[in-house]
Amino acid sequence: KDEVKIITGALELSKKTVKNIMTELKDVYMLDYDVILDFNTISEIMKTGYTRIPIFENDRTNICALLNIKDLAFIDPDDKTPLKTVCKFYNHPVNFVFEDAHLDVMLEEFKKGRFHLSFVQRVNSEGTGDPFYETIGVVTLEDIIEEIIQAEIIDE
Ligand code: ADP
Repeated sequence: KDEVKIITGALELSKKTVKNIMTELKDVYMLDYDVILDFNTISEIMKTGYTRIPIFENDRTNICALLNIKDLAFIDPDDKTPLKTVCKFYNHPVNFVFEDAHLDVMLEEFKKGRFHLSFVQRVNSEGTGDPFYETIGVVTLEDIIEEIIQAEIIDE
């Protein structure tokens, strides 16, 4: 029974797009690039339980870096280190994908790339100005695996 489900899930990958499964930007836990890594901020980050945290500058749609909680291993809260310093030091790649990318393609990207989270973009051509790329969410390897096994993975 489970095998049939998994095979069906795998076959359906090419029919679904990242937009179908992404976590919407409004639900993403992010940090401002200008934040200071004091005790309060670090404990807030730890409480969320997320491994990867998008960093934005000025506006939440303006992603400028990605923080991995492992980056905080050597940070002493008393040093009041600017988040900026940590981001510049680790400089993790920030990857973008279009909202209409299919999940089989996205899975290949995750397999060959050095990232497990990608930002989802769309072309915003509403309004009178020029069309522009707009970040609308995030998708992770776990989101795709959930589609394959067709079940939620409950976090640790
Ligand atoms: P984690 O390792 O942080 O638990 P996963 O890659 O296992 O993250 O993803 C678990 C779920 O959480 C996925 O649905 C993913 O889209 C979502 N997710 C990942 N990072 C964040 C974040 N910073 N804020 C909100 N949701 C996130």
